[in-house]
Amino acid sequence: MTLFPEMVKGVLDQSIIGRAQRSGCIEVHTHNIRDFSTDKHRKTDDTPYGGGVGMVMTCQPIYDCYRSVRDTIPEENRTLVIYMSPKGKIFDHGMARSLAEYDNLIFLCGHYEGVDQRILDEIVDTEISIGDYVVTGGEIPACIVIDAVSRLKDGVLASSECYEGETIASGILEYPQYTKPREFMGREVPDILLSGDHARIDRWRLEQAVEITRERRPDLLALHPEIEESLRPKKKKRRKGKDEKG
Ligand code: SAM
Repeated sequence: MTLFPEMVKGVLDQSIIGRAQRSGCIEVHTHNIRDFSTDKHRKTDDTPYGGGVGMVMTCQPIYDCYRSVRDTIPEENRTLVIYMSPKGKIFDHGMARSLAEYDNLIFLCGHYEGVDQRILDEIVDTEISIGDYVVTGGEIPACIVIDAVSRLKDGVLASSECYEGETIASGILEYPQYTKPREFMGREVPDILLSGDHARIDRWRLEQAVEITRERRPDLLALHPEIEESLRPKKKKRRKGKDEKG
């Protein structure tokens, strides 16, 4: 639900998410809140009570838009209504995974100074922020959430392997990636990646991932000590020898 549906379509009709829509793995429908305004000038905002700068989106067009969207969704579907807001809980991979469990997500995109609190109290289940900064509208934040959640749905990526080893989903940051050519501006691809020895390549990648995470996000490593632990040489089990008792 947005005042600027073209912003959302422009982003989500492209590339992998566009293809996922065309192949029926996901559906994205945009609903123009302005189409539901009963005002003779199709107004959707007004000045704030109590004074102050800017305009606030009014309840009526949002509520009627919401009712019309809701009427298209079967009662039994698991549905969540989300207001994209800098005051919301900060979006992360864990949240993307829980959102991917729903059948339907309804996003309300604010604009200007935001939305009348009463409509949020009436229809919204949760507020999500994309980070501690303010952008001009909820459309780009909603696209970010829709993209991140859609990648976790079956059929959108070639396989779940595509995201399981990635930054954050794996627990830490990803190792550096290289592709052809072997040399670019005097910079060579690391020899190990050309060795064909997949066990050594896996270990090198894990070492690189741990190293980069230690530098940039030590907090993630602290959450997953087992990853670093897996790189330590395994202690040989001491066999009970002649000189040992018991
Ligand atoms: N006056 C509001 C405040 O101080 O909290 C900010 C309004 S902002 C300019 C307009 C709209 O952009 C918001 O209603 C919200 O939908 C969206 N928005 C802005 N920053 C966002 C963020 N970090 N995460 C999610 N949505 C955001």
